Amino acid sequence: MTTLIEALLKEKLITFDNLQDAEAKQIGAQKPIHELLVEMDFLKEEDLLRVASKVFNLPAISLDNEKIDSQALKLVQYDKAKRYGAFPLRVQEGKLVLAMSNPQDVTVLDDLSAIAGMGVTPVLAKKNDIAECIDKYYLVDDSIYDLMKNIVDDTKVELVKEGKEDQSFLDADVLKGDRSPVVKLANLILSDAVKSRASDIHIEPYEDFVEVRYRIDGYLKNIMKIPVKMHSSLVVRIKILSDLDISETRSPQDGRCSILIHERKVDLRISIIPTFHGEKIVIRLLDKSQEKKYIEQLGMEPGDLSAFKEAIQKPQGMVLVTGPTGSGKTSTLYAALGFIKSETKNIVTIEDPIEYLTEGINQIPVNPAKNVTFASGLKSILRQDPNVILVGEIRDLETAEIAFRASLTGHLVFSTLHTNNAVSTVIRLLDLGLEPYLIGSSLAMIVAQRLVRIICPGCRQEITDAQEVRQMHEKFGIFIQRYKLEKLYKGAGCETCNYTGFLNRTAIFEILKVSEKVKKLISEKASEDEIMKAARESRFRTLAEAGGEKARSGVTTIEEVERVCGIQEIDFDIQPKESYQGTKGSDGEKTSLESSPREVNEVANELRKAVNKRHTVLIVDDEPDIRTILTVCFESCGYNVIEAEDGEEGVKKAYRDKPSLIIMDVMMPKMDGVTATKKIRSHLETASIPIVMLTAKSDKTSEIEGLDAGADDYVNKPFDRDKLLARVRMLLRKK
Ligand SMILES: [Zn+2]
Repeated sequence: MTTLIEALLKEKLITFDNLQDAEAKQIGAQKPIHELLVEMDFLKEEDLLRVASKVFNLPAISLDNEKIDSQALKLVQYDKAKRYGAFPLRVQEGKLVLAMSNPQDVTVLDDLSAIAGMGVTPVLAKKNDIAECIDKYYLVDDSIYDLMKNIVDDTKVELVKEGKEDQSFLDADVLKGDRSPVVKLANLILSDAVKSRASDIHIEPYEDFVEVRYRIDGYLKNIMKIPVKMHSSLVVRIKILSDLDISETRSPQDGRCSILIHERKVDLRISIIPTFHGEKIVIRLLDKSQEKKYIEQLGMEPGDLSAFKEAIQKPQGMVLVTGPTGSGKTSTLYAALGFIKSETKNIVTIEDPIEYLTEGINQIPVNPAKNVTFASGLKSILRQDPNVILVGEIRDLETAEIAFRASLTGHLVFSTLHTNNAVSTVIRLLDLGLEPYLIGSSLAMIVAQRLVRIICPGCRQEITDAQEVRQMHEKFGIFIQRYKLEKLYKGAGCETCNYTGFLNRTAIFEILKVSEKVKKLISEKASEDEIMKAARESRFRTLAEAGGEKARSGVTTIEEVERVCGIQEIDFDIQPKESYQGTKGSDGEKTSLESSPREVNEVANELRKAVNKRHTVLIVDDEPDIRTILTVCFESCGYNVIEAEDGEEGVKKAYRDKPSLIIMDVMMPKMDGVTATKKIRSHLETASIPIVMLTAKSDKTSEIEGLDAGADDYVNKPFDRDKLLARVRMLLRKK
């Protein structure tokens, strides 16, 4: 029998010299000689494959053209496949077909046969292709595979090259044609987050899974869990996108990039920190098409707005915007800069970090490594003949002093402070060590603000249900009376708002115009009460009062105002409590990585859910009898059951309650089951909930239609109870 090497020599594909060189190298290399010949460029892999196919009498295949069966992958574990360089393709005639580059080793074949528990049929393929397939396909967990299968893949994400922003140069190599599951998953998450109006994406590794959460309108929301084994590749993917060091996994890294998604340019700011279970990623999404807010869009009442406009048009003085992290201070200041921007003014900012780049404004980032701090930067700015200066934040006495002095010498200065309300800001400045006269003489205005969620205009309704009204009065009686709320509103939940009842946010403002009287009081180191009393003499509203106004007009809900202001604390002499939206810190408006009380609550809820492992089944059917039969059937087997009487309600409950499984009728009023299934499949948050279609129509067309829409299974009415339960159990197990 001719050996492979003899055949290669005979076909003149290699020379004796080649062989000798390779043999010399083989000592210690522990590799088959033909692999070395390829590695040393003496032999083309195609030729090797062709000759090997003849010598071993085995078919040679191209893995690109092969259909891969994910079931076959389970027969050989990843590490074994890697070790033996064998990739399982499919089971054929009771034998596992394996793509191999080196199939002549009998002991390897025996081992693989023992591992798979069946005979093996080797076929020849290129070594590199096999390795690539192993890396690519073993990362596909069943759940991810199902998810990918369910989501309509219309995601187009393109990377916009940094530094060439003007030309919007699209990088074709980085994303085009790369169809590995990790790339697909990363694209899906980014696209879904943009679609869901998320401001941040959190990717958090835990021991058994990786949690993906979005922050939408200030709230963190659990979206999906992905298998731990996909985590590192996902991190690498995101690092590649943002040009970060992929080999560095033990130090925090920050990066940024721009992507084009749904025909919108979105800037991403990526922060990666190592945690106990691996690297945690936070991606902040800055949507270019949504960033610019005009001063009129901030949510100020007309009186406040004209006072604010007046203050920011003064030639000098200090305007402070205060509130906790995430209360919209930066947006307010950018809107103010946008309003006063003109060619006759030199506007300079020092920020940490720069949130939005704005044309016509000189922006300087804080950079401690280069000795650019708020204080040192501010000193340099003052030598640049500025008219308007924005100091990102006042954190220390040095910065405060320079900023306040500048505002006395012909400069208009804007800045922010982490304080709860307008009046307490004065006290805070005194506590910092600032001279009372300096504060009194330079302050023009203090704006305190909070963000509240806006009731979705698509589903806003008056609360009319007697019981619900009574509950609201029990809970918020004082508030309702004090602000004379005759009508109460809520968002019922619709598709536009992802069934949350809220869409976007607006701000409530407490504006302290520093009058002569207030100035005098500050200079005299008067108490907070005295300053408040003087403020009251001119038009001054507390945050809670401003919130009450917004609740009365139905812009937001009482709960929202309560959340950001605290209702019991609406009296003037008591400070509103700290907002839950973020923690006080020195990080400006950056993502707060610490947990707020609300987030802790969310985690506690999740834990409770985990303890209570009963699955919840959502039954969507318009026939009450069928719902009853199904409810009894599932409850008797230990499931929790929730019901919906049409497709629309079904979609709403799928989003709100996130059931473990859905039984979906097809023919229903308002929205049919196929449409409802499509809607449930269109967001990552609900895409992986198994759906069983249930219908009296037994024809093939509706079955195909349902499965196309993303249903996992199909059961005909009248249904067999045991059969249905068995299918449900199977789907839940898979999940
Ligand atoms: Zn809505």
